[in-house]
Amino acid sequence: MPTVEASAVVMPSRVFNFSSGPAVLPEPVLLEAQRDLFVYPGAGMSVMEMSHRSPAFDRILADAEAAVRALGHIGDDYAVLFLQGGASLQFSMAPMNLLGPGQSADYVITGVWGQKAIAEARKVGAVRVAGSTEGEGFRRVPRQEELQLDPAAAYVHVTTNNTIYGTQWPAMPDVGDVPLVADASSDIFGAPLDVSKFGLIYAGAQKNLGPSGVTLVIIRKDLLSRSSDGLPTMLNYAVQAANGSRYNTPNTFGIYILDLVARWMLAEGGLDACAARNARKAARLYAEIDRTGFYRGHASPESRSTMNVTFRLADESLEQRFADEAARQGLDGLRGHRSVGGLRASMYNAFPEAGVEALVEFMREFERRNG
Ligand SMILES: *Cc1c(COP(=O)(O)O)cnc(C)c1O
Repeated sequence: MPTVEASAVVMPSRVFNFSSGPAVLPEPVLLEAQRDLFVYPGAGMSVMEMSHRSPAFDRILADAEAAVRALGHIGDDYAVLFLQGGASLQFSMAPMNLLGPGQSADYVITGVWGQKAIAEARKVGAVRVAGSTEGEGFRRVPRQEELQLDPAAAYVHVTTNNTIYGTQWPAMPDVGDVPLVADASSDIFGAPLDVSKFGLIYAGAQKNLGPSGVTLVIIRKDLLSRSSDGLPTMLNYAVQAANGSRYNTPNTFGIYILDLVARWMLAEGGLDACAARNARKAARLYAEIDRTGFYRGHASPESRSTMNVTFRLADESLEQRFADEAARQGLDGLRGHRSVGGLRASMYNAFPEAGVEALVEFMREFERRNG
């Protein structure tokens, strides 16, 4: 029997990981996965080695779905799927399944991810831009009265949180009876979510839910009748739902971690508690950004994200030094997206409040030395 004891005694210290994704995971989840990596209790093997149709994995999959349903108060009128291909494949799957011949879909463009989504939809059928803030550098999301919605649209697509710009819809737009389709990759379960407002919600797991390689898809069951038999089988929501996400081999280990993360969120108090913690973290950091003119927030205040906080230094030439010195002090991943520049602190559910305190302290100290 090989032993891991020799290496397990050395526990390297962890940095505060501000990465936009893949992102920080809850430490209890990592430790539980580490403990059970070699032998999953009762299975005599690791999760990675077990059949996706074994009783042990049946339980993991059912448990993950139950945890997601419990978190989002998701009723039986919705299917919960764990697919692959990331949010980016959903840019294609959503129109392929939901946009019928002769129909048109509305897209609200609030950033690069929305642009990528509409570009894929255009390859499938007719689309309209129902609103865009591109002219303002995507620093905010549109107001309801700025949207030009087609009441006959097949669906309306929005991006709930714009990871790159640090903007977030304060509330979902009213789209009437048209199904609302949401890319919620970077704020899913960051706050309570009224699933009944949506026809389809999708999210790559690697920001708020788990590791990369799993995409959570929540779809209202009546919409499954739109999936045509002519679609590639793997890209057909109705097939995926009928097969319980196991038409082929799913990302078994990823679903296992997602299950642990979802159960961690439930144990921490569910989405109300997540929202309260996220609001505290964001308020603390925005207050520091706004305290003097040394730092400047990138997003318009009314659209500020609780998940991704984007900011600049008034003297932009100091930004590289800021990021480098922060990294040396264990504050990792603060460089902004290449398209926006500046700095970005991503603080998803698993990001600890102590990390925000450490960043705020570093910001004060950096300002003292360079202001
Ligand atoms: C990260 C991200 C994506 C891309 O996700 P993949 O899983 O890498 O395809 C899409 N949309 C949003 C809003 C994101 O934050």
